[in-house]
Amino acid sequence: MIMTYRAIEATRPGTLNLVQRPLREPGPGQVRLRVEACGVCHSDAATVEGGFPGISYPRVPGHEVVGRIDALGSGVQGWAVGQRVGVGFLAGSCGYCEFCRNGDLVNCKNQEYTGIHHDGGYAEVMLAKASGLVSIPDDLRSVDAAPLLCAGLTTFGALRNAPAKSGDLVAVFGIGGLGHLAVQYARHMGFEVVAIARGADKAELAKKLGAHHYIDSAAVDPGKALLGLGGASIILITASGGKAVSESFKGLRPGGVSIALGVGPEPIEVSAVDLIFGGRKLEGALTGNPATSEATLRFSALSGISAMVETIPLERAAEGYAKMMAGKARFRVVLTM
Ligand SMILES: [Zn+2]
Ligand SMILES: [Zn+2]
Repeated sequence: MIMTYRAIEATRPGTLNLVQRPLREPGPGQVRLRVEACGVCHSDAATVEGGFPGISYPRVPGHEVVGRIDALGSGVQGWAVGQRVGVGFLAGSCGYCEFCRNGDLVNCKNQEYTGIHHDGGYAEVMLAKASGLVSIPDDLRSVDAAPLLCAGLTTFGALRNAPAKSGDLVAVFGIGGLGHLAVQYARHMGFEVVAIARGADKAELAKKLGAHHYIDSAAVDPGKALLGLGGASIILITASGGKAVSESFKGLRPGGVSIALGVGPEPIEVSAVDLIFGGRKLEGALTGNPATSEATLRFSALSGISAMVETIPLERAAEGYAKMMAGKARFRVVLTM
């Protein structure tokens, strides 16, 4: 048995290096994975650029991980060696805090973030907490399943939990890694779908993904354009930064909800008039629990939904990461081992 494996470490902010690491046994409650694919997500910047407070280097980024279990730590039940599993951003709940005992695994007080608090999936091997594992259906390839574990789960979960009914107008702001999946989910969930992005060049793609309407936010006021279509029940903000929320908020119909999914440094500003008159709402949503992740994978497989993926071998992770950060990935970079 080979006793070392290759991994990509952030050794200090802004630097990714290929290293050899010694193989470790999984601890209590953990499994060891032979990683097959790992998606590159914008949130990886929290690790690579050091945006997350108190991060300790070196750290292996990556939280869209698909691999096969090759060892079980003590006390692990319900998972088997050889099984193909996924790990997302939320690394696994504790089971004993107030939120866990109330069934709210996403807000577990003791939950770590994959690739931030401990090493993630930019590697051939990874240790993962069993309570965060997701079972991968046989009919999804590892490279296709990987981006669904964060980008897919985030958009599918937000739409699934949103107060909209079939036929309602649902807008997706931003056609990137998250947005191109959100448009497909919204279409297959039976909504009237509006895609909003800057420039005319994404109109054709948005329609191909299933959007019924396209709004070019560089040419028209997206809020007014949405009202022209009758007003949206839901606006899913997949672009990072507060500007997309502010620009589109008045396009909600009364009682509608704007759901922010992309994290950015700028504050979100909405008009008190738009908020209060019509009882509009502004919410955030953070990925989802492992069962919702499995529902995301099943729904995607049944509906033929997948991310448009560009694969890059592990050793070229820095190149894939830079491409994603520059907004040049079409639309999700996935590392293969
Ligand atoms: Zn992510
Ligand atoms: Zn907990």
